[in-house]
Amino acid sequence: MIITDTHTHLYSEAFNDDRNEMINRAIKQGITRFFIPAIDSTSTQLMFQLEKDYPNNVFLMSGLHPTYVKNNYKDELKHVEELLAKRRFYAIGEIGIDLYWDKTTLEIQRKAFKHQIQLAKKYRLPIVIHCRDAFDEIFEVLESEKSDDLFGIFHCFTGTLKQAHQAISYNMKLGIGGVATFKNGKIDQFLNQIDLSHIVLETDSPYLAPVPYRGKRNESIYILKVLEKLSYIYNRTEEDIAEITTENSKAVFKI
Ligand SMILES: [Zn+2]
Repeated sequence: MIITDTHTHLYSEAFNDDRNEMINRAIKQGITRFFIPAIDSTSTQLMFQLEKDYPNNVFLMSGLHPTYVKNNYKDELKHVEELLAKRRFYAIGEIGIDLYWDKTTLEIQRKAFKHQIQLAKKYRLPIVIHCRDAFDEIFEVLESEKSDDLFGIFHCFTGTLKQAHQAISYNMKLGIGGVATFKNGKIDQFLNQIDLSHIVLETDSPYLAPVPYRGKRNESIYILKVLEKLSYIYNRTEEDIAEITTENSKAVFKI
């Protein structure tokens, strides 16, 4: 069984004490593919080190996270562009709009999102979207940018069935993680109406640990709890779910 964690912040300082043990624990259980979203330029070197340490397991993205879009965002976008010009990345992410933490930066968040979508098209890469309290704003940008070469993952999808269909209409897969196991997570109620061909698995670790670890540090091995939940929701074996979602991740990331 090969399981793909399409979204994990392995470089987070939350793993400073046991990073290698934590990664190897996961690899032993079949979680062998880790896709690493960027936040801003401060994580770049840490990401390169991870790739060096786990060249067969770690796949990097480049991008500027919406909550890190500040006054210096043009410099940060330049950093993203320089990286893209230099070497291969597997996606532009995570990018998007977050109105939970700061509404005052909406305009520059929107600009940075649009700009990075255009970079993704230029390099024929998928985008990995971060959306918090901003479905309307994100869909508005996607609508204006939609095309055959716009595709990717709606990371940590938390919307309604209608919003799920809308995201899929823009060639997005839905990134499903710990929220699917939450009592009030809501998406578990309708997920079986979304074909498995649109689903990928993720942890977003160290954040959003699934039940029964909710509130604790999340790590890649806990993706097994998400797998278990999806197996129940779709009434398919865990092996089936792992295989289908890994194939879906390959279709998106081209590896
Ligand atoms: Zn993330």
